Amino acid sequence: MDSTQKISHLALDIGGTLIKLVYFSANGDYSEESRNGCSVVHGKLCFAKFETRKIDDCLEFIRFNILHHSGVQHPNGEALDKLYVKATGGGAFKFADLFKEKLGILFDKEDEMHSLVGGVNFLLKTVPREAFTYLDGQKEFVKIDHNDLYPYLLVNIGSGVSMIKVDGDGKYERISGTSLGGGTFLGLGKLLTKCKSFDELLELSHHGNNRVIDMLVGDIYGGTDYSKIGLSSTAIASSFGKAISDGKELEDYQPEDVARSLLRMISNNIGQIAYLNALRFGLKRIFFGGFFIRGLEYTMDTISVAVHFWSRGEAKAMFLRHEGFLGALGAFTSYNNQSHNDLKPHHHTVQRAILNCSGDNLRHIPVTSNLNDSETIECSINLV
Ligand code: ADP
Repeated sequence: MDSTQKISHLALDIGGTLIKLVYFSANGDYSEESRNGCSVVHGKLCFAKFETRKIDDCLEFIRFNILHHSGVQHPNGEALDKLYVKATGGGAFKFADLFKEKLGILFDKEDEMHSLVGGVNFLLKTVPREAFTYLDGQKEFVKIDHNDLYPYLLVNIGSGVSMIKVDGDGKYERISGTSLGGGTFLGLGKLLTKCKSFDELLELSHHGNNRVIDMLVGDIYGGTDYSKIGLSSTAIASSFGKAISDGKELEDYQPEDVARSLLRMISNNIGQIAYLNALRFGLKRIFFGGFFIRGLEYTMDTISVAVHFWSRGEAKAMFLRHEGFLGALGAFTSYNNQSHNDLKPHHHTVQRAILNCSGDNLRHIPVTSNLNDSETIECSINLV
């Protein structure tokens, strides 16, 4: 980060596994123009993530890269005054004292579901080429019609999974969920493959073959389809089912194949539960988010196939480029609504910031590249 960069408006989503950060970084010259009584600052939204268990790394990042560039710190590292930042997720409660003690930051807490929905609505309405489908190896951007966006089902796959029916801005209901989510994949994956990280587990799964461990319809039917009920010989009849009869121990399987079966099992299950919930409420569009997906083709393909298969092509699985930062983005956009009568007015406290992203402003990231932490959204904010 260059030393002239000016940072303002940080929002955090502190989840069970990962801490997600969104912050606004003004352009180098920090040009402020006045429009209708408010100043407009051009810059970009930046993203970063940390493992929650390594929260000290996150604190250091905020101290050196954000507070230092926001003009709210003494040279000795102490905060100049009370600094409020938007925070969501369970960690906004759990770690509030830690942030106050270590950084002098006070959390202005936002509800987790509200932030998730706010983040998705913001992305779908303001960021072009945000949503896409992925089926049979084909990625296709979805054009969002703002007048025909609702209702939709939001499936957020974090450590656990939440399914939320969204009917409008701030209008939503958590209709279901499952505890078999990203945390299950990572937790079981670590136990079964001895891998050390999520990235390692993904890398293993990339090289594996699930048919080594999964029991397929063809394994039961002697290599043929069960065509009468529409099951092909390659359909999975029982995840990990072959391990019963193979007479093998865990050590006899390749970790790659175990990781692949696990990823398939979790993704398939979530796709199916999502479809069932979409069916319950007659929803045709399902958006999948959360850091479990990580833009991984195999994961997206499995989820899409599950939704397509069970809905007989009626429902559509869609993915979001900023999938992992939905809650943090929602918390960030809630700066828009801030009435700070309850907070002492001070330029270092929560300041209202209306976020504008126009198609022209946006840097288009090809969907073939996975979004990494340094990918940004160009935008401007109106400081009111
Ligand atoms: P939460 O808010 O519950 O932490 P996230 O949306 O951040 O949820 O997703 C957490 C999940 O993302 C993990 O359970 C894991 O499956 C996956 N994941 C992706 N990248 C990582 C990573 N670098 N470290 C740990 N888990 C990761």
